[in-house]
Amino acid sequence: MLKVAVIGLGTMGPGMVARMARGGFEVRAFDTSDAAIDRARVMLPQIGAVLDQLSITPLASGEGAISFHRDLAEAVAGVDLVIENVPERIEVKEEVLRAISPLVAGDCVIASDTSGIPITKLQAFVVNPRRFVGMHWSNPPHIIPMIEVIPGAATAAEVVSFISETIKGLGLIPVLVKKDVPGFVENRVLYALLRECVDLVDQGVIDADALDTCVSWGIGYKLSVIGPMALLDMAGLDIYQSVSGYLNADLCNAATVSDAITSRTAAGRLGMKTGGGIYDYTPERIKELGAERARKLVATRRVLEGRD
Ligand code: NAD
Repeated sequence: MLKVAVIGLGTMGPGMVARMARGGFEVRAFDTSDAAIDRARVMLPQIGAVLDQLSITPLASGEGAISFHRDLAEAVAGVDLVIENVPERIEVKEEVLRAISPLVAGDCVIASDTSGIPITKLQAFVVNPRRFVGMHWSNPPHIIPMIEVIPGAATAAEVVSFISETIKGLGLIPVLVKKDVPGFVENRVLYALLRECVDLVDQGVIDADALDTCVSWGIGYKLSVIGPMALLDMAGLDIYQSVSGYLNADLCNAATVSDAITSRTAAGRLGMKTGGGIYDYTPERIKELGAERARKLVATRRVLEGRD
């Protein structure tokens, strides 16, 4: 049974821990915050119920054990894989990776769930860069089956295979990112979309809620069935050539972040976590949205997998 340590139990950690335990792994869950550990403990049964709805059942040998740790050396002792999952700030990742690296065996693989810091940069913080790799899960990690695998300049080919096979062994889908570009692929595509969406609302072309309807029921709904490259073939490359011929030059290419975002963050409007961002939220609405989105994502995934 594979032994894995997950370091950081914030937004992403609990779902990753639960998903890997469901796949039979022994999972050590570590955080420096007692509140994060307490929250993860509360979330595990709720996440387990969502995994049941996805028909992700435990192996015949049963679920893997989950243990919680406040001592880093104890958490990583004897594990095959450590997944660094701490906040997306390079100085925090440096401190954590420098702490983990001397505590693990020479053949242990250290992976980072960074959303886009180049793996080649993070590799400089570990003793054995050949055994360091990007493993970028998508949120919510217990529901979205795709995980990007990103080798840095020094990552050994066998480590890329090990991570890809580990992901497949869980019944998930590894996608190899061949060049270690900032943001990898998922976030480059997402941020290109978000920049254009924010700009369209800024310019008064459309209201925020109408934009969400347009994208979710238009390209969003379609893209879950037909990927962008297949969509090019479906639309016709001649159409793409003529539309992008006049449209590309008109699209937002701002190198800075929109004032509509920075003025909100300066005022503490960070989104759901502070009760408001683009939209306003009550605590009840946040609960409702969480349940509704999980239910819809589960139902969509079941249909896409041909289960319903
Ligand atoms: P988060 O801020 O919600 O949680 C981070 C956790 O790390 C917190 O519980 C914090 O207490 C803990 N932590 C801080 N310092 C620590 C330390 N020194 N040792 C151990 N734990 C420590 O972050 P998140 O959203 O879960 O993101 C984690 C990583 O995953 C980031 O690199 C992020 O970019 C990436 N990621 C996030 C998402 C997302 O949608 N949130 C999606 C994919 C990848």
